[in-house]
Amino acid sequence: MSISRSTATFILTLCVALSTQALSAQTRTAQTVPATSTVAGAPGAAADEGKAAKLEHFDPNLIDKSLDPCNDFYKYACNKWIAANPIPPDQVYWSSGSGLQLWNESILRGTLEAASANAANRDAVHQKIGDYYAACMDENGIDAAGLKPLRPELDRISAMKSKKDLTLEIARLHHMFPGAWLGGDNESSAPFFGLNGQQDYDNASIVVAQFDQAGLSLPNRDYYLKTDDKSKEVLKKYHAHIQKMFVLAGESEAQAGADASTVIEIETGLAQAQMDNVTRRDTKNINNKMTLAQVKELEPSIDWDAYLKAVKAPASEHYIVTAPNFFRAEEKLIQDHPLEHWKVYLRWQAIHRAAPTLDKAMDEENFDFFAHTLAGAEKQRPRWRRCVNAADRDLGDALGQAYVDKAFPPASRDRTIQMVHAIEAALTDDVASLAWMSPATKEQAVVKLKGIEDKIGYPKRWHDYSTVTIVRDNYLNNVAQATSFEFERWIAKIGKSVDRAEWTMTPPTINAYYDPQLNTINFPAGILQPPFFDPSQDDAVNFGAIGMVIGHEIIHGFDDQGRKFDAHGNLRDWWTADDGKQYDERGKCISDEYTQDVPDAGPGVKQNGLLTQGEDTADNGGIRLALAALESSLKQQGKTLDDKGSDGWTYRQRFFLSNAYSWCTSARPEITRLIVTTDPHSMPVFRIDNVVSNLSEFQQAFGCKAGQKMVRANACRVW
Ligand SMILES: [Zn+2]
Repeated sequence: MSISRSTATFILTLCVALSTQALSAQTRTAQTVPATSTVAGAPGAAADEGKAAKLEHFDPNLIDKSLDPCNDFYKYACNKWIAANPIPPDQVYWSSGSGLQLWNESILRGTLEAASANAANRDAVHQKIGDYYAACMDENGIDAAGLKPLRPELDRISAMKSKKDLTLEIARLHHMFPGAWLGGDNESSAPFFGLNGQQDYDNASIVVAQFDQAGLSLPNRDYYLKTDDKSKEVLKKYHAHIQKMFVLAGESEAQAGADASTVIEIETGLAQAQMDNVTRRDTKNINNKMTLAQVKELEPSIDWDAYLKAVKAPASEHYIVTAPNFFRAEEKLIQDHPLEHWKVYLRWQAIHRAAPTLDKAMDEENFDFFAHTLAGAEKQRPRWRRCVNAADRDLGDALGQAYVDKAFPPASRDRTIQMVHAIEAALTDDVASLAWMSPATKEQAVVKLKGIEDKIGYPKRWHDYSTVTIVRDNYLNNVAQATSFEFERWIAKIGKSVDRAEWTMTPPTINAYYDPQLNTINFPAGILQPPFFDPSQDDAVNFGAIGMVIGHEIIHGFDDQGRKFDAHGNLRDWWTADDGKQYDERGKCISDEYTQDVPDAGPGVKQNGLLTQGEDTADNGGIRLALAALESSLKQQGKTLDDKGSDGWTYRQRFFLSNAYSWCTSARPEITRLIVTTDPHSMPVFRIDNVVSNLSEFQQAFGCKAGQKMVRANACRVW
C-alpha cells in the first residue's frame, strides 16, 4: 500500500516529514504515511511545558480588520494569530493545530507515566508501554551504555566476508529500525530497497509483495542531484555530519572523512537511479508485475530467496517492482564498489538510524544536521515529547486505546459521522451538476462514491503486541523489537486476502487520509478535536475546519491519482476518453496555478504544481463540498448562509474564516524549502489564498470585485 497510500494522504502539510522527529529518522510507522508531529508548547514556554496544554478555539476577534479580505485573505485571517504565536525554538513551524499536538501528547504522557511508575501492579500492555517509556526517558542509562546496544550489529557488519553476506545484513537492518523496510522516495526509506505487503493494483482483493526503490538518507533525490549553491552547501554539511558520526563511533578523523565520501558516493548513485516523485504519482508507472525469476535477474547480487526467507515472506502470486531501473542500477553499484564500501554504507545506515536511541553526543549531532541544518529547528524538543512520539509510533494501538477512552467521547464520533454523510451527499449533487462530465462517467463516479467506507476515530480491532518483548533498560532493543513485529505483521499479509480493517495512522494522530485501494476515508480521533472539530462551536465553524478536511479526503478518490482507481480499489479506467481529457485540462489549470514562487523560502524557490496537483484538487473540491453541506444543514434549521450570527459575521463568512484559521502557520525557511522539494501538499498560504481566489462563493461572502487579488481571472475548478 505504501506508494499510493502515502501520496494520497491528506496530512496537514506541515506534518509530513517536517517535524524534527521525522527528520531524525525516528518517525514512520507501518506505511510510508508518516506519523504527524505538529508538536510544541506555548511559544517560549519552558522545556517541560505540556501538563497545562490548552486547546485553541476559533476566535473571530483574531481577524485583522485593518486588511482587505479580498486582497489577501490568509493575512486577514491569520496575521494577528501569527504575530501572537512566534515559532518556539524547538519547532520548525508553528500552526493553530500545534496546541492540539501538545494536548494530545500530554494525554499520552499521562498514560505512559502512570504505566511507567506503577511497575509492581500492571497488566501486560501497561508493562510494555510503561517500560518502553522508562527506557526511552533513561538518558543517564543510555549515556552510560554508549554505543553498546548497537555494537553487535556493527560487529556483524565488520565480519562480513563477501558481497554474498549483504543479503542477510539487509534483512537484519530492515527488521531493526522504524520504517527501515519501506521503500519510497524519502529519507527514511529502507537500506538498499523496501519490501511491503501491498494490495495488488489490478486486483485489490489480494495482497502481493512489492519491492520498492530506497536507500537514501537525505529528504529525497534532489538533495543529491541539484547543483545550485544552496544544495551544494547542504551536501557539504552532510559530509561533515557523517564524518562526525563516524568519529563518535570510534573512527579516526581521516578514516571518517573518507568513509563519509563513500556514503555520499553510494547514496548519490542510488538517487540518480530513483524514479522521481512526480513520475511515481501515476500508479501505472510503478505497477510493474514480475515473477521472482525476473526480480532475480534485475539484481543478481542479492540472494532473493534467502532474503524472503529471512523476513518470513509468504509466497506471492507475483512481485511488483516499482522501479526496475533502480534495481538494475543498484546491481551495477554493488558490482562497481568493493565490499569495504558496502560495509561503510551499512555501518552508516545502522549508526544514522540508531542515533535517536543512542547517547547524547550521537543524538545531538543527529539533531544538529537533520533537524537544525535541514529544517531550521534551534533546539531539541524536550525528551518526554520525543519519547511520547516514539511510543505512539512503535506501540500505537496500545496507547491509542487509552487516548480514545480519555479524549474521544461517542458524541464527537456521532457528530463527525453526520458531517461525513452530509458532505458525501454534497458530492452526489456536485457530480450530478457537472456540465463537463457525461452521464456514463457520472454513473460510475456515483458508484465509487457510494462505495467509500467511512472510518472514524479508531480501528475496530486493536493490534495484539503480546509477542513483542519490551525491557526497561535497552531503548534500542525495544525499538528493534517493535519494528520487527510491525514489519513481519505487514509481510505476513502477502498471499492473503486484503484486511479492510487496517489503519495506517494511530488514533492520536492529527491527520487524515484517503486510501484509494481500500476506497476508505480515515479520520483518527487525534484530529477530531479543536480547532479542527470543536463541539463548542456552531456548524459554520466546524464545516469550515474539519468539514473541509472531510471533503478533501473524499475528493482524493477523484483527484489525478485517485480517479484512476475504481470503487473496488482496482486500477481501472472508468472514464470515457473524452471525460478523461476534460479532467486533464482542468487538472492542468490547477497544476499551472500552483506552480508558483515561494518567497518565504528564498529566491528561486518554486512550488511544483505537478507534485501538488492531487492535494490542491482535494483542497479546492473539499471546501466546495463542505460549504454545500453547511448550506443544507442551515436550511434544515430554517437559515441561510448569509444570515448573521450573534457575532455579526454571516455563516458564510464564519465558514471561510474558520477554514483559514485552521491553517494559520509560521514556518522556518529551511523547512519551507524541504516541503517544496518533497511534499505533495502546498504551503498553507496557498491552501487558503489560491482556493478562495478560485471560488465565487468566497467572493460573495466578502463582496470581492473583479481585479482584486482574491478574484482570479482564470479560476480553476475540477470538482
Ligand atoms: Zn490530501
